[in-house]
Amino acid sequence: MKIAHRVAEYAAHRSALEGRAPRVAYVATMGALHEGHRSLIRLAKTLGDVVVVSIFVNPLQFGPGEDYARYPRPLEDDLQVCEADGVDIVFVPSVSDLYPAGRQVTVHAGVLGSVLEGHSRPGHFNGVLTVVLKLFNIIQPQVSIFGEKDAQQLACIQRMVIDLNLAVEIVGAPIVREPDGLAMSSRNIFLTASERAVARSLSAALEKAATQGSPPSARAAAYEVLDRAEAEPCFELDYATIVNPSTFAEVPDDHVGLAILVVAARVGGTRLIDNTTINFAPAPWG
Ligand code: AMP
Repeated sequence: MKIAHRVAEYAAHRSALEGRAPRVAYVATMGALHEGHRSLIRLAKTLGDVVVVSIFVNPLQFGPGEDYARYPRPLEDDLQVCEADGVDIVFVPSVSDLYPAGRQVTVHAGVLGSVLEGHSRPGHFNGVLTVVLKLFNIIQPQVSIFGEKDAQQLACIQRMVIDLNLAVEIVGAPIVREPDGLAMSSRNIFLTASERAVARSLSAALEKAATQGSPPSARAAAYEVLDRAEAEPCFELDYATIVNPSTFAEVPDDHVGLAILVVAARVGGTRLIDNTTINFAPAPWG
């Protein structure tokens, strides 16, 4: 496994592969790798013949007062995970290498990036898209895998690829969960035991909603669980909304077909997000 700490180092490893004309499959991460990341790496191995993983905690996507400074950075463990999973190249750039002094140009995520997560975290998706575009330009992958865990992020990236004519295929990967349903996240380590128990409400709400036949009944089922969680002082719901999978606009009550129920909440000092896709069937005649 090759480890590149600088853009030029990665470029050297990449050009050494040129003779083989490899299909590069790429997984972008912020590290603290868990089974969710590993599922993306496994999928990448089936989609390309060279697998590249980047580990970079991107300051541009964190707002003031967010957890950039305390975000976990267990680099040695992460490199061991990558090695064990057969990653070919790990790219671990520094902030100064990726963001040279004097930089000015960024990507604007548009309306899709300004609702829900984008509303609660202003500028977040501009930061995400800026770093992802830079990483695509550096890594030069043919295919890149992103988790459905960050559904709005995946939609923003798919939108960017279309709008900016990027020559990379984007593949979504299913959410990997703990045995009790909590979506795996690098931030779960911040939860205390009692917060961890309350955090389970997010996936429990999604599970209940997913069996419902219409947006109003799905919303009601989700809120039944979330209202109970809100009785706990450590739990503060941000949003629970059923949205169109490509625009992330709220669907009408009579919506038929695919939709995503997205939820976000603060549990103690930790912000958690989760979602599930629901296929609403047409109402029966009569
Ligand atoms: P992060 O390191 O949090 O930026 O995540 C890197 C990639 O892993 C993103 O594409 C995430 O959507 C994906 N990811 C994170 N957690 C999970 C999970 N529990 N299941 C599937 N993919 C995930």
